[in-house]
Parts: sequence; structure tokens; C-alpha cells
Amino acid sequence: MKLFDYTRTSRASDAVDLVAGHPGGAFIGGGTELTNLMKDGVLAPDLVVDVGRLDLSDIGVSKDRLHIGATARMRDVADHPVVRERFPVVSEALLASASPQIRNRATIGGNLMQRTRCWYYRDPGSACNKREPGSGCPALDGQNRWHAIHGGSDHCIAVHPSDLAVSLTALDATVVTLGPDGRRSIPIGDLYRLPGSTPDEETTLRHGELITGVDVPRSRLAAGSRYLKLRDRASFEFAVVSVAAALTRERGTVGDVRLAFGGIAPRPWRSPEAEDALRGRPLTRATIAAAGRALVDGARPREHNAFKVELVQRALADVLEELGGLK
Ligand code: SF4
Repeated sequence: MKLFDYTRTSRASDAVDLVAGHPGGAFIGGGTELTNLMKDGVLAPDLVVDVGRLDLSDIGVSKDRLHIGATARMRDVADHPVVRERFPVVSEALLASASPQIRNRATIGGNLMQRTRCWYYRDPGSACNKREPGSGCPALDGQNRWHAIHGGSDHCIAVHPSDLAVSLTALDATVVTLGPDGRRSIPIGDLYRLPGSTPDEETTLRHGELITGVDVPRSRLAAGSRYLKLRDRASFEFAVVSVAAALTRERGTVGDVRLAFGGIAPRPWRSPEAEDALRGRPLTRATIAAAGRALVDGARPREHNAFKVELVQRALADVLEELGGLK
């Protein structure tokens, strides 16, 4: 591992100033992600600014929203009684993430800033456009079982790894940041970029901009939400595919609905087409199947991940049938 300077601050503005003023600077929260990438030689910041003890760990509920501080631990958010009762998709996504040991340590902000699990990205001996722009993407014609079927490009087909981000995307959450130019509120749908020709630019955050929290609108929709994650082993693993679904029912039909998917795209994937196939219609197996077909319309599977086209439709059907009482 390359030598680096380490410092800890007690004020968010000091942390922002330090990283913003240092091109090789990086924030560290719980340390469960950045330290692994540094040990593996994937990232090599020369200044690490510890934000894990900033006073940003609050979990607060008001009449119209849930606020989660960026340094709240995954375990504390997952176990919070109001989160469990009023925002079950968030609690379920967190409980499906990582091991209990990691959840005890990892922060909400760090979870949202996780890097892809693409094995080529994590191997500094391999080419990778995301790690080293212009070096190529061996996943396109290589081992691409875990890779994207939507939203990829000829430069990168890696998938986004955060279960939490998928659940927050389904609930139209807002990410609150503090940067060199002050505070911003970013709809989570605008936080993550698709790879295009610059897969190394993963988010719309500027260098030195720190996530300070997340706001989640409180609604009937959020209260009727579920998260389903399909993975290779039950103990802990990243999603092969996952579904976050929230819906309301009105006089026997679907009132409002939000769907977001993990494991199939470079960012949490919304499908307005699948939502339109459900909204205003009776929640039957036929309408659910139509929503699944709309979801995968235009999908571009690769040699080893074509199974995801069928799997994500089945996962969607499973969640919707449970929410609709069809099981
Ligand atoms: Fe790198 Fe993306 Fe290709 Fe993986 S899919 S090797 S992260 S460029």
C-alpha cells in the first residue's frame, strides 16, 4: 500500500476544505470500503480525511420525511423502529447488505459511495476503463456474469453495488451534501452517472463534496414497500439481481408505484415503463408479467449474464405478488 497522510476532523466544513484543497485527498467513513481498495492497490489517495466521527449520525423522523445522517451506521438505520415500520424497503435492503460485522461499522454515506465489484476493476493487473481510462474493458468479451443488461456502454458494463441506493431510488430520496460551494440537495436519481465514454466519472459529486445525509419522503407508498435480493450465497454477497418496490392500492387497482432494480445496471435502475404497465390496473399475474416484459425491453445481455433477463422478471413478480397478496 502506498504511504498516505491521515487526519481526523470534527467539523464537516474542515473535512471538505481539506479534501477539496488536495487533488489526491479522499474521505473515509467506516473504512470498510476504501481500506480494501487501498490495500488492493486499486485506489491510492495520499491524504485520507476521517469523517467517521463527525456529528452526522442522527436518524430523525418528521411529519413529512425521514432524515438519515451520513455517518449513521448501517445496523442502526436497519434496526430503527420507524425505519422498519414506515420505510421497510430501506431496512430490508440494509439487512440484505454485507455481514453483521460490516453493518456494525459501515456508514450510510460510505455505502452510497461504494465502488463496483467488477473483478477486473478490483484487479490492478487488469485493464479497466473505470480505474485507468482508455485501457479497455475486458468484461465486454470476458467474464461478465455479474454485469449490466441495461445502461452499459462499449466502455463499461459494471453494475452498481449498493442495495441501499436501490431502495432509496425507489422512494425518490434526496442526497444532501456539503461541498466547496456550499450545501446541495441532489435527487438520488441524479447522483449516479451512466458510464458512457467516461466510466471513471461515477457520480455528479465534485471533488471534496461530502455526503452529509439523506432525506426520504414519508408516504403511504414508502410504508408499503419491499426489497428482494437474489444472490449467490445467503450469508452475505452482492446482488445478482434485486428489486425495490413500493405501491399503493386504490379500489382494487394499483394507485401509485415505484420500482428500482439492482444488479442489472451501472446505477440503481428505474423502469418508468414497468411502472406504467402497473399504474391504474388491477394487480394480477397478467399485469405483473406485462410489467416484467416492459422492464427488460431493450435489455442488452452479454455472453454470461443473459439469465438475468428472466431472473429479474421473476424477482419482480415475486415482490409484487407478495405486496398484492397473491401468494
Ligand atoms: Fe472496468 Fe467497467 Fe470494464 Fe469492469 S466493466 S472492467 S469496471 S470498464
